Amino acid sequence: MPPLAPPLLEWYAHAARDLPWRSADVTPWAVLVSEVMLQQTPVARVLPAYSAWLSRWPTPADLAADAPGEAVRMWGRLGYPRRALRLHAAAVQIRDRHRGAVPADPAELEALPGIGVYTARAVAAFAFGRRVPVVDTNVRRVLARAVTGVGEAGPPSATRELAAVEALLPEEPRTAARFSVAVMELGALVCVAGRPRCASCPIAAECAWRLAGWPAYAGRPARAQRFAGTDRQVRGLLLALVRESTEPVSKPRLDGVWVHATQRERALAGLLTDGLLTELADGRYALPGG
Ligand code: SF4
Repeated sequence: MPPLAPPLLEWYAHAARDLPWRSADVTPWAVLVSEVMLQQTPVARVLPAYSAWLSRWPTPADLAADAPGEAVRMWGRLGYPRRALRLHAAAVQIRDRHRGAVPADPAELEALPGIGVYTARAVAAFAFGRRVPVVDTNVRRVLARAVTGVGEAGPPSATRELAAVEALLPEEPRTAARFSVAVMELGALVCVAGRPRCASCPIAAECAWRLAGWPAYAGRPARAQRFAGTDRQVRGLLLALVRESTEPVSKPRLDGVWVHATQRERALAGLLTDGLLTELADGRYALPGG
């Protein structure tokens, strides 16, 4: 077994957070939903949305039978609402092409709408115990520090990083999957962005960056993402108004959410193009129907 695995697995056994998508009886569909929700949203905000979603749609067929607009409505304020539409489209494909069962093969998972390299491998590993490398932001950071010996992950390179993580995986598939989630948990709780908590790190003795004396990062710093005043913020305001309304919304009401007309119109046009809103024959706006 590679040297990082034993101490990490031992640490994970007592330090891991008790999250519902990690329970022993979780379904592959629940794992898929959790992974899509967690793509760009913190755990604390995902937890209530995850429970509500699975209570309403416990299987892909349940979601596929409902209108895409209901998925957008249930998505609430999780952000990046195109994920809701894609998850609905994925549920339709799972029902129609996979007899209602989430596929276990990463290539088949990646063929589903909205499922990228990371999510496909995460579902294959965490729902089906496959031995596949899983690389997210936390894993990239731990890899950069513990293995490469630099303070931050450089520009992403899926091929290089997947190969590097695969080389660390234990042979036994379920242990490999557990190792992957342990690395992610270490990145979330201990080897955090900014100042890592090396004093309580289970792999401190092996960490190349620590052993080198934490040399300063010489690469380009990551760009901070701005939200206030962006088209994304305006899209969120427009969509929230329609989502929270019990009937279609008139254009003058939508115009009230943002003062700058050019940006507002651009955001509205984007929502229509993405299929998150539809314009009705009477000129009002609604969530997409069936
Ligand atoms: S010793 Fe510090 S830098 Fe290295 S993996 Fe652990 S927390 Fe991260």
